[in-house]
Amino acid sequence: MATSQNGWPALAADSTLLHTWVIQGKSGTTRIRMRGGSAGFLLAHCALWFDGKVEDLVEHVLDDWGYAYRPVRGYETTLSNHSSGTAIDLNATDHPLGAAGTFTPAECAAIRQRLNLYKGTIRWGGDYQGRKDSMHFEIDAPLAVAEKVARGLLDTPRGKRLLKANPGQRAVILS
Ligand SMILES: [Zn+2]
Repeated sequence: MATSQNGWPALAADSTLLHTWVIQGKSGTTRIRMRGGSAGFLLAHCALWFDGKVEDLVEHVLDDWGYAYRPVRGYETTLSNHSSGTAIDLNATDHPLGAAGTFTPAECAAIRQRLNLYKGTIRWGGDYQGRKDSMHFEIDAPLAVAEKVARGLLDTPRGKRLLKANPGQRAVILS
């Protein structure tokens, strides 16, 4: 099985490992298809925070994206982490690939501080060394590490809210 750039297995569009995460944020409900279990949980947890604290996810356009089987843009063979359902794009049209400065310095600082909670399991595209991808957040750890961090967040207020809106996912994370 092919793997995406972060080493997670790429998934077919009809894979039972994919789950449409229901994210009930401050601005409303957003549904984003990602890997089920710990990877999707961590990204959805981060998205839920983002919605309350950085920008509204529910706006005039639907531009919050998850799973997509495709190469990294500009490359022919390296599979994007979207291919394994372990990446998420938030407010994509407001933060186009390659554009810098679409978030204020305060927002960037808030995002970086927030990522400490996820203990290195989530990398932000706004921190890429080369081409910035500020809409993009991805899992940057192996499954065992992601599971450990996810389990530690199950009973946080946002964790509980997410699991309530996504019945069955607690069992997947604990399996
Ligand atoms: Zn992306």
